[in-house]
Amino acid sequence: MDSHNHYADEILDRASHLRTDETWLTAQFEDEHTLVIPVWRARNLVANQEQPQGVMLPTTRARDLIDAARATVLLGIRNDVAHFAVDISPLEEHDVCGIHDDSEFVDLRSVGPVMDRSEASILAYAKGIMYWHARHEFCGSCGHPTEIREAGHLRKCTNPECGALHFPRTDPAVIMLVAKDDRALLGRKAEWMEGMYSTLAGFVEPGESLEQAVAREVMEEAGVKITNIRYHSSQPWPFPSSLMLGFYADALNEDFHRNDDELEDLQWFTRQELADGGAGIAKRPRSDSIARRLIDEWILQE
Ligand SMILES: [Zn+2]
Repeated sequence: MDSHNHYADEILDRASHLRTDETWLTAQFEDEHTLVIPVWRARNLVANQEQPQGVMLPTTRARDLIDAARATVLLGIRNDVAHFAVDISPLEEHDVCGIHDDSEFVDLRSVGPVMDRSEASILAYAKGIMYWHARHEFCGSCGHPTEIREAGHLRKCTNPECGALHFPRTDPAVIMLVAKDDRALLGRKAEWMEGMYSTLAGFVEPGESLEQAVAREVMEEAGVKITNIRYHSSQPWPFPSSLMLGFYADALNEDFHRNDDELEDLQWFTRQELADGGAGIAKRPRSDSIARRLIDEWILQE
């Protein structure tokens, strides 16, 4: 089984020391090897819907996009080639439909699971940071416009009285497989695919440790007390801006009750029931999710 979660196959050197090197940055836009990754209204440009590939354009074919971009971000370097993301959301749909042959702007969620994993990771990074830019055009402290600094990794308030610095944010969320002996506690939301059950999850609150967040969410959603909380792995999940932190935990009680309206149903499932692909009992979550990995590895843990 792969040691990394989907969207976490980082192949770019983020080269943070070059983000303030204006001479180097200018030279990259003149370099025809430099690659430009367009993001349009939270969608990524993907070619070949049969075997989807992220489109990365050489600067020679991306001049108009660079000029039209409302945000440009240095993602990093690979094999001495700089990779920049550009948010071209101000362009109208008819302007962006012919950017590249046999390609279109799509929701990464629709193609991510079947894409090359390192390519999907770059697209996720581009999408995630542009989501942040789009929501920080104005200072959260004084309301004045902000401007981009450090090759897209900082926004600074233009009000001289304020000058607040705003750094890209990601929202930590805990996701946990709670087990008791041979059974795992999974829930489902009404809007999910029919028959699908997944691990419990929720956002970390201010003033809370990850372990406290795990215990609180399980208590809130299921009324179950847990112990032996073990960290598993993490996954960037830019849908729109989460960092998923995966855990295993043991339940102290089997009886449960749904305490909130978030879940439509909650059930204990055995390894066999889940291993059979549900066998009509419970469908597992999407293949690119950390939830799926937590479940699949737990099935093998016997
Ligand atoms: Zn301000």
